[in-house]
Amino acid sequence: MRQILFILLVSTSSSLLAQKIAITLDDLPFGYSGGFTDDQKIEAFDKILHTLKKHKVRATLFVTSGNMNEVTKVILDKAVAEGHQLGNHTNNHYDLNKVSAEKYIADIDSCQQLAEKWINSNYFRYAMLHRGNTKTKRDSVYSYLEEKGFLIAPVTIDNNEWVYNRGYSLAMKIGDQKNMDQIAKEYLYHMKEVTARYQKLSLQLTDREIPQILLLHSNPINADYLGKLLDWYKKEGWEFATLDEVMNDEFYNIEDNYIGPYGFSQLDRIKRSKKSN
Ligand SMILES: [Zn+2]
Repeated sequence: MRQILFILLVSTSSSLLAQKIAITLDDLPFGYSGGFTDDQKIEAFDKILHTLKKHKVRATLFVTSGNMNEVTKVILDKAVAEGHQLGNHTNNHYDLNKVSAEKYIADIDSCQQLAEKWINSNYFRYAMLHRGNTKTKRDSVYSYLEEKGFLIAPVTIDNNEWVYNRGYSLAMKIGDQKNMDQIAKEYLYHMKEVTARYQKLSLQLTDREIPQILLLHSNPINADYLGKLLDWYKKEGWEFATLDEVMNDEFYNIEDNYIGPYGFSQLDRIKRSKKSN
């Protein structure tokens, strides 16, 4: 009996300590969509905004200013008006593994200037999460970011959402509803799997479940399925938090000395940093 009571107490207290998760979406105004018109992009983003509002999520959204035009910039107006935080995600989405630090830095600067009206935070997110495949390159961009007062926005729940989105968008383009439904089902299953993977990695590395940062994109699959995804997190007991709240956790102060070509989750970066020490 005493043991049963103990188990009950433990399970009750752990369910009270909700796991926090920050929702971030990249490539604003709108990412890969298999040829959406500007109006379709605006309509799809409205659905994303509606879902975020319904779930009371204050998200951090990253602008790739090269994706923006005179029509789609209204997406940024709407995102700011809804109280979301907007950060810099470069102008051309260059891969830092393939361009020089100088070219990359100029591209961050371009985004800052072109999207100045909307960027309302000091967060910066690397395109493809690539922080430089050499120490010199990594450190040059780090120095620039520090000098300009940027704060790197990491990701902990990395995933292949963009791959599912690509298939989904192409199926949508040819009106293949059956394929769209199948891809969406697999997308949601994938997200549950990767979430479990990073919860497990968090326990392995830190002996606790850290507040997580989810990477998503402004794209068609989220216009249609972000609601279902957020429903699932809520049902599993997750609490939606802002990026600021999540990054207050001490995990995000752990020194990360990973250098390499991969765009890893922060958890994987820390895991590999430890190995290289
Ligand atoms: Zn991106």
